[in-house]
Amino acid sequence: MTLPWLQEAKQSLCAARLADRVPHALLLHEDPGAGGLQLASWIAQLLLCRESARAPCGACPDCQWVRVRQHPDCQHIQPEGKSRQIVVDQVRDAVTELRLTGHSGRAKIAILAPAEALNANAANALLKTLEEPTPTTLLILVTTQPSRLLPTIRSRCLKLRVAAPARSDAVQWLTDARGAGPWDAALAALDTGPLALLEIDPAEIASTRREVLVHLCALHDQTLQPPAIAERWAKDELDLRLACTESWITDQIMIAASAIDDLPEMRREPQLSTGPRGLNIGLLLEFHDAVRELRSLMHTSINKSLAVESLLWRWAQVRTR
Ligand SMILES: [Zn+2]
Repeated sequence: MTLPWLQEAKQSLCAARLADRVPHALLLHEDPGAGGLQLASWIAQLLLCRESARAPCGACPDCQWVRVRQHPDCQHIQPEGKSRQIVVDQVRDAVTELRLTGHSGRAKIAILAPAEALNANAANALLKTLEEPTPTTLLILVTTQPSRLLPTIRSRCLKLRVAAPARSDAVQWLTDARGAGPWDAALAALDTGPLALLEIDPAEIASTRREVLVHLCALHDQTLQPPAIAERWAKDELDLRLACTESWITDQIMIAASAIDDLPEMRREPQLSTGPRGLNIGLLLEFHDAVRELRSLMHTSINKSLAVESLLWRWAQVRTR
C-alpha cells in the first residue's frame, strides 16, 4: 500500500539515517486517518531491514516481521483489553525490553500509539527513559493530539508532522484502493484522512450523513422536534451521527465566517432555511463545543438518549435565541 503523501517524511528520515542522525525519540503528530502508524512501521523497517543499502526493502524477513508486528526488536504498546489507557506496567515492560540486546543487533524500537492514551504514571515512567536514552533505541510516539502529552515528553522528542492529503487526493487514493464510492461525502462526514475509511462502507456513511443533515435542518425549521430524532439517533450509529453533526457544523462555521457565498459541494446538501449567515457564529461555536463534549463522553455510562435529546434541543434553540 503506497501512501504518496508520506513520501517527504520518508525522504527526510532516510537522509537522517544516512547521516547517522536518527533521534532516540520521535513524535509523529498525525491528522486522523493520515497514516501515522503506517509511517512508524516503515521507520521500524528502515532501521531493522537487513538489506542496509536499500532499506527498507520491504521483502526481507525483518521487514516482513515488522509489518505483521512479530519482530522481536519492535514492540507495539497500545491500550489493552477494554482499557482506554496505556498503563505504567506496559511502559516498564517495554523499557526493560528496550535495554536488552537486540535480536537483529541493529535497533530496539517501541511504538506507542495512540500516545495520548498514556496515563500519568505511564507518562512519568516513559519520561525517565527519554531522559536517559541508550544508543540503539528508538521510541516512536504516534498521536493526533500532542497537546495531551506532558510538555516534558514533547520537548524530548523530535516532532514530525504527518498531514493528511488534500480531500481530492484522498478521494483519488481511496478510489484506486477500493473502487468507486461516495468517498467525498464519507471523508467529509468523518472529517478524517483516507486510512480511516479502509474498512468502512462509504455508501452507508454518506447515507447516514445525509439523514443527519435532513434532521438538523428540520429541527432548525421546527418541522421536527428533538425527542423523536434523539430516540432514532440513540438507537442507531450515534457515534457516527455525532461525527457527522460536528463536521457539518464546522462547515457551517466556515461558511458563516468566510467571504465565499457558498462552498460548491454544499449545494447538493440539505440547506438551512435561514442559511448559516443568518446564524450567530458564537452560537454555532458553542454548539460545536457541545457536540465535541458529548462525543468525548460516548464511552462513559451517561444516559445517551437524554444527552442527545438535550443536545438537539440546544441546536433547535440556536435559531431562536
Ligand atoms: Zn528489508
